[in-house]
Amino acid sequence: MSDLNLILLGPPGSGKGTQGERLTEDFDLPYFATGDILRAAVRDSTEIGLEAKRYMDGGNLVPDQVIVEVVAEALDDEATADGFILDGFPRTLGQADALDAELKRLDRALTAVILIDASDEEVHRRLGGRRTCRKNGHIFHVTFDPPKNAGVCDVCGAELYVRDDDKPETITNRLKVYHDQTEPLVGRYRELGLLKRVEGSLPPDQVGDRIRALLATLRMEEEL
Ligand code: AMP
Repeated sequence: MSDLNLILLGPPGSGKGTQGERLTEDFDLPYFATGDILRAAVRDSTEIGLEAKRYMDGGNLVPDQVIVEVVAEALDDEATADGFILDGFPRTLGQADALDAELKRLDRALTAVILIDASDEEVHRRLGGRRTCRKNGHIFHVTFDPPKNAGVCDVCGAELYVRDDDKPETITNRLKVYHDQTEPLVGRYRELGLLKRVEGSLPPDQVGDRIRALLATLRMEEEL
């Protein structure tokens, strides 16, 4: 079987992270969520983290060259031999070009780009209710996935907080950034025949089932 090289595309809050975690378990593939990588860099006060923070807090994208370097390093690793799952990258046409070049260098190709789509209203509902654990980054939702005790992480007991980029005015900006800079990738990958759209406003289990079904179809087509 060939390698499974996947991109998860979609607006912020459409469920890419949830589905990415499931896919990683199902297929035992390395999962690179650039938002998580950058947040860890901010927590560790690395050089990249210090540079990224001011963009992230306002819901803006960090410069392409910063994130491209991070992803190129992650992909150029034996752990990706059977494939990888990228979540939140690429987010601009420039990043998509850089990814193409890196994959070419590694003699690899994308298998599919899964667009997990959601309306702006749905994104506001989801992100506005998100509460993140200060210690382990685990995410709850005040309505859809409430912690047992309000404001406290079920996993480790640390405080839950609203990430700066989950505040309403920042969500509005993140959506604008998505429509302006990231949405053009939908057309690009559709033209390449790689795009698979899944409705992200469905319950997570149903979204997961649809993704599994479309990957099974891709595998079958590959064997024909
Ligand atoms: P996320 O958790 O994927 O929504 O990412 C959180 C923030 O990290 C974004 O709002 C950006 O500031 C930054 N970020 C994550 N991935 C990228 C990327 N591929 N390009 C630029 N900025 C990114």
